[in-house]
Amino acid sequence: MTDDRVLRGIGVSPGIAYAPAVVLRWRFPDVPDRTVAEAEVEAELGRLREAVAAVVQSLNRLREGVLESAGYEESQIFEAQILMVQDPDFLSGVEQLIRKNNLSAETAYEFKALELRAAFGSAGPRMRERLADLLAIQIRVLRNLMGEGDEELFGLRDHRHVIVVAHELYPGLTVQLDRDQLLGLISEEGTRTSHAAILAHSLGIPCVMGAAGVIDRIESGTMVLLDGTSGRVLIEPTVAELEAAQVTAARRHKLEMELEAKTLEPATTPDGVTLTLMGNVDLPDEIEMAVRHGALGVGLLRTEFLVTGRAHLPTEEEQYQYFRRVGASFGGHPVIVRTYDLGGDKFPAAFSAPSEANPFLGWRSIRVCLDRPEIFRPQLRALLRTAADHSIQVMLPLVTRVDEVVQTREMIAEEAEQLARAGIRAASSVPVGVMIETPAAVIIADRLAMVSAFFSIGTNDLTQYTLAVDRGNAHLASRFTPHDPAIIRMLGDVLAAGDHQGIPVSVCGEMASEPQFAMLLLGLGFKVLSVAPPALPLIKWLVRSVPAAVARDAAVATLHADTPDEVGEILRATLGRFIDLRLIDPESTMPSRSSGGFPRADGGHSAR
Ligand code: PEP
Ligand code: MG
Repeated sequence: MTDDRVLRGIGVSPGIAYAPAVVLRWRFPDVPDRTVAEAEVEAELGRLREAVAAVVQSLNRLREGVLESAGYEESQIFEAQILMVQDPDFLSGVEQLIRKNNLSAETAYEFKALELRAAFGSAGPRMRERLADLLAIQIRVLRNLMGEGDEELFGLRDHRHVIVVAHELYPGLTVQLDRDQLLGLISEEGTRTSHAAILAHSLGIPCVMGAAGVIDRIESGTMVLLDGTSGRVLIEPTVAELEAAQVTAARRHKLEMELEAKTLEPATTPDGVTLTLMGNVDLPDEIEMAVRHGALGVGLLRTEFLVTGRAHLPTEEEQYQYFRRVGASFGGHPVIVRTYDLGGDKFPAAFSAPSEANPFLGWRSIRVCLDRPEIFRPQLRALLRTAADHSIQVMLPLVTRVDEVVQTREMIAEEAEQLARAGIRAASSVPVGVMIETPAAVIIADRLAMVSAFFSIGTNDLTQYTLAVDRGNAHLASRFTPHDPAIIRMLGDVLAAGDHQGIPVSVCGEMASEPQFAMLLLGLGFKVLSVAPPALPLIKWLVRSVPAAVARDAAVATLHADTPDEVGEILRATLGRFIDLRLIDPESTMPSRSSGGFPRADGGHSAR
């Protein structure tokens, strides 16, 4: 029997939260159609300018607040919003309407805004983030013109602690709310890779996205329990359910303390196999946690978030400073910098990309970089300069052909030569590795291995492209199965191709951050995993708990399975012998045989 108080979404930022909901019905205020007398036209134009100036001022205030609470890169989101609100083409269109049709400022502004939205409406997923930003600033301007303030905008004034529920979250909302007031976030749209999800994670706000129908099911004021680990949302929980959640949270917290005390111990299995656990770093904020959780370097430094939502591409110098900072934080351990993975839904506002019917099969990642050397070469120079003092390696995303690697290596050699000629301190070369995240790369892994210093498997995209399941589509989340037998075979094949050529092969997709899948990877023979920083203690605990021989037997058994469900059962049955599964997935009914501590799946944020 299904319980209609339960909603399921995707856990994108871990932690448990319990608080009244505030439902944001994110829409334009009711703007009356109003014309003005000829004599009032100038005054209306003045009101428009004042409203825009006031919104710029409040966005600037937000930018400063976020600069303090989160950091420089996060605060840059507002730079793009400030440019959008001041867009001269758009504003002169509004002014013309006021002048020619004697419309009030708000009537004219709404008219133009709706026109622009209709034009954006047919845009694909790439534009969604920008559309959300656009909508946010337009609502601000309209509310300002209607004499309504920002504070009511969020309906939060009267609430001390809340869970915000929205159809779609946009980055500004995620960061501007008071962290002490905002206990959690729930949205209908979005997935882990949404801009807002990444920010929620980095700010430590538990968050569930892709919760279909949540807006209709939850009223403002309703008590809601959300688990950002399992993606479960419970409406009006009973006392018993609350107590159960508190017990889970307390256990996670206890384990968090226990595991954090052990972060400096090696990731060695009980039967003596040692793994290297590295961290995935998306935002500068995460460096500190990765270091504190004992990451032996960075296995995936995403560079697109230096760009997303920003009005300008970062300069060579800005990138150099950032790479140096990361390099210096990991005390000589390697930092693997992924070159720009632009495209799909990650295009900076400053970068005009063509509109495409299928952006995820389009002009993205290494293709963009090779086609636009004026973007790529400064990044390569910044990397070479950093590599003079730090252990930097370069990794190429979405490779499908050998010549993409060869061409990049040539560019790196050219830039190294130029830097040397100009007398600029830089390394003369840098190891270049390849992300294996397309079926093509798996099939030609033997050839790619000949021109690559290492492989790192991006199981997020590999799953998307192999199973033909959009990783960002909340409706397909249950079909997005990185433990599909097809993927498991591919993982084994890539490892074998790397071993044959004598190059290291790691996994940096989200799969490595989930205990049962990390056990599968251990069993398949992977020795290097790169993991989301909050999950590092848990994955280390897993490695130290499950003998490699047991994991190997489980992995062999999964190779004979026909479905991801069968694979899941094998993994859970094996893992359940060593840890309490209820702590990884609060809905699990599998009894624990563990007598030791409790693992925690969130690694960072227990219930408050
Ligand atoms: C992946 O595709 O698995 C990966 C690690 O890269 P991203 O999630 O940034 O696409
Ligand atoms: Mg990828």
